[in-house]
Amino acid sequence: MTDKINELLRRVEEFKPKAASEIEEFRIRILGKKGELTALMEEFKTVAPELKRELGQQLNKLKNEATARINALREELQNASSSDTSSDDDLTRPGSAGELGSRHPIALVKNRIVEVFGRLGYTVAEGPEIEDDWHVFSALNFPPEHPARDMQDTFFVEKDPDILLRTHTSSIQVRTMERQKPPIRVICPGRVFRNEAISYRAHCIFHQIEGLYIDEGVSFADMKQSLLYFAKEIFGEQTAIRMRPSYFPFTEPSAEVDVSCNLCGGKGCPVCKGTGWLEIMGCGMVDPNVLKANDIDPEKYSGFAFGMGIERIAMLLYGVKDLRLYFENDVRFLHQFDQAL
Ligand SMILES: [Zn+2]
Repeated sequence: MTDKINELLRRVEEFKPKAASEIEEFRIRILGKKGELTALMEEFKTVAPELKRELGQQLNKLKNEATARINALREELQNASSSDTSSDDDLTRPGSAGELGSRHPIALVKNRIVEVFGRLGYTVAEGPEIEDDWHVFSALNFPPEHPARDMQDTFFVEKDPDILLRTHTSSIQVRTMERQKPPIRVICPGRVFRNEAISYRAHCIFHQIEGLYIDEGVSFADMKQSLLYFAKEIFGEQTAIRMRPSYFPFTEPSAEVDVSCNLCGGKGCPVCKGTGWLEIMGCGMVDPNVLKANDIDPEKYSGFAFGMGIERIAMLLYGVKDLRLYFENDVRFLHQFDQAL
């Protein structure tokens, strides 16, 4: 009988099922009502009394081992099936591509402009979006009655002393002149705020980029040549510029800069409204009053400044007619710039 017990014990130890159903079959064959262990128990009743003690212990051991082994195998199989679902996966299915982000068109154009002026020796300067009256207006020669100081155009955070959202990036130029003595050559990109109703052609938030160059003997001709270089780099080698007299409080003389329309080649089309020219920026020689307000001697130094809306340049480059698209962050719009610039 000991041989039968050991034989059964060996089979229990070597049992390696492939599925849950095999474990259950095995359990019934060994431990079931008509199982082999049950049969051994019956046989045990008939053995000689002096053998009962030892055989009883062997049978108990067999029963315990068989039960433990079956429970362990069941658990093992269950864990394996819950953690490994590969059998259900279709490995031939095409994978789903991850969504990749791309640069926003405003950032693309800004980086491009910064890069072009970087080649001319301009470094980037930045400043706060919440400003005081001095840096946005007073230091830039805005007269007290200037309409830009009105609530109609400016978002005020606090009144008296005036704290406001900057209406142009020229405030960064003032901060640069405070920190640095000439020669100064900076390009100032940033977000600006104006109290305007939102429409396809106006927004209360937009982006500007301004440049400032101050040194001894800087002339209007230097400015014109720098801006021509810029226009050719952005809009193409064939691009021409023209300047029209204009007015800004902080420059004298001042001009608006137009580039030749790159769509019709100057012949006239709906985009340039038949004129062959597209307005891109304002510029001018820094007003001596601005230099004086910032402790720079206008007898010794002169300079020029220019500024443009980044949305405007992006609109001309990409043909985007509705300004609001830049702020809605619709991925269908943004994905069109994946390969741009
Ligand atoms: Zn045109």
